[in-house]
Amino acid sequence: MREYTSCHWIQHGLSFENDHIEMCCLCCHKGGGRLYIKDKYNGKGLKWDELFKLKDKFIEDNRNGIIDPRCEGCFNLVHRGWDDDEKYINYIHFNHWTHCNSDCIYCYTKWDKKAFNSRPHYKVMPMLKELFKKKLFRPGGEVTFAGGEPTILNEFDDIVNCLLKNGVERITVHSSGIKYSKAIEKGIKEQKLSVCLSADCGSRDTYKAVKRVDKFEKFWQNVEKYANSQPDDNKLLVETKFIIIPGVNDNKEEIEKWLSLNLACGIKSIVVDIENDYCKELRQENKEKPAHLVELCNYIVKRAKELDFNLVDYNNFRYLITEYNLA
Ligand code: SF4
Ligand code: SF4
Repeated sequence: MREYTSCHWIQHGLSFENDHIEMCCLCCHKGGGRLYIKDKYNGKGLKWDELFKLKDKFIEDNRNGIIDPRCEGCFNLVHRGWDDDEKYINYIHFNHWTHCNSDCIYCYTKWDKKAFNSRPHYKVMPMLKELFKKKLFRPGGEVTFAGGEPTILNEFDDIVNCLLKNGVERITVHSSGIKYSKAIEKGIKEQKLSVCLSADCGSRDTYKAVKRVDKFEKFWQNVEKYANSQPDDNKLLVETKFIIIPGVNDNKEEIEKWLSLNLACGIKSIVVDIENDYCKELRQENKEKPAHLVELCNYIVKRAKELDFNLVDYNNFRYLITEYNLA
């Protein structure tokens, strides 16, 4: 093993985007990410040798101490030994479709929902089958889904079943929670899959204001059903996420209602974040962190502790209550 500064995505990761392949999906740090590996990818003709060669250019640079400026400030960069003679993949991110059954006011798809909901996307099953057939995937990493809404992706059940069958031990799905998925349930029961369900509220009115669909009851029914499918000794596989949107849901009453619903549904782990565009503007214009938001974030931390929730804080939330090196 050689020691140098790199990250697990550069060494062994791939992020499948709508019409190309990137190294990872991280973009909130100073360098902004977006390291393209393969342009104009449409799901066909993936040559693994070619792909590893393309990744090798980045690995070679890191080995020589040249860090891509797009990686600057990324928390994944570490100095340690890397097994760069071995060619395999163990981190995959699926982000190649944009269809969704929600219409969140903070989502990038809001600019043209109709277009994003009908945008064509390629199939990934042929690539996955080849990856496993050639034994190019190794356990120990993670497969993540973003998108778009994974549960309405035609191939979703096939992909999850294929991952489970081939020994993938860690699958993470971000879902609107509006459509219940038996494949997600199966992954939870096998303790190989965790799901993060997008709540952003504790009341029906706020749900409708944020999601612009009327699925509040359906959402919480599904949360409870997923929570109940967790094994007794592992209750951290199902989470709900609250993105604080200034002026919309940034108050203690909404947070308390959300926490109560989580308790009622048997949720033990919660995720918090703050709307990305809002935080980006704060950082770029070097504005003061708004006192009421800092107080609300600290309130959430305190209440999560009191109610014995496992609290997962995403980058923007951390930025608000700490000094964090983001763009
Ligand atoms: S260092 Fe960060 S931005 Fe760069 S490839 Fe790795 S995960 Fe992506
Ligand atoms: S659930 Fe996710 S993909 Fe769907 S509209 Fe909301 S933010 Fe966008």
